[in-house]
Amino acid sequence: FLSVKGLSKSFGDLNVLKNIDIAIDEGNIITIIGPSGSGKTTLLRCLNGLEIPDQGRLVFHDGFEVEFGQTLKKKQLMELSRKSGMVFQSYNLFPHKSALQNVTEGPLFVQKRNKLEVLQLAESILKKVGLADKKDLYPHQLSGGQQQRVGIARALAIEPELMLFDEPTSALDPELVGDVLKVMKDLAKEGWTMVIVTHELRFAEEVADTIIFMDQGQIVEQGPPSQVLRNPTQERTSQFIQRVM
Ligand code: ATP
Repeated sequence: FLSVKGLSKSFGDLNVLKNIDIAIDEGNIITIIGPSGSGKTTLLRCLNGLEIPDQGRLVFHDGFEVEFGQTLKKKQLMELSRKSGMVFQSYNLFPHKSALQNVTEGPLFVQKRNKLEVLQLAESILKKVGLADKKDLYPHQLSGGQQQRVGIARALAIEPELMLFDEPTSALDPELVGDVLKVMKDLAKEGWTMVIVTHELRFAEEVADTIIFMDQGQIVEQGPPSQVLRNPTQERTSQFIQRVM
């Protein structure tokens, strides 16, 4: 569905991603775990062009390809960003727009789609994330968990091919985490392809097809949860798991 090949990225002298290869199959849930600063967020941002890798290639199932390390056309970057919906740790909602307006913004003003169609789509997505009755409220009138569900609805509204989540629950009070994870589990059941950076190892164990453990810009180990979390083959993985679980 998506092949990530030889992705590398530095910030100045800091080598944040070193030759990353990942194969993502359609409908797969990949979770990325690892210590702070290991490059998880940067990797996720590279997948939709929020960060431009220095080297490497992304190859999508439909033949769309982006080769980094050479000048990219604006059109290519636009297409790359359309392929995936990104959910941020800190929601990144527009504070002066209602929940509904936050969800319609992308399809209406970036994709320039038909207004009536977009409104219907946005309402059905807000219903899916359990916020049909909150659509006219503004972010400050919503709890963190509700704001994050608007964030998920907004990402879904561009009708992407895959969904990317960057620590979607780490800013939330513990009692609000469950609602957001529930929405993500529902998406997994619907067959969405998802890449999730998370510190919630129990959630990762429950939903992931593949867990990737990163350290210092490299993939140290990847495999099913039963391997990576329960029987890691690498010393660095088991040290991390013992610390966190
Ligand atoms: P965390 O779990 O704490 O979010 P992470 O594994 O997601 O960490 P990244 O956010 O990808 O790690 O950061 C990897 C390294 O790259 C860190 O040392 C960070 O300081 C650095 N870094 C990230 N973005 C930039 C940037 N825009 N400019 C310079 N350095 C950056």
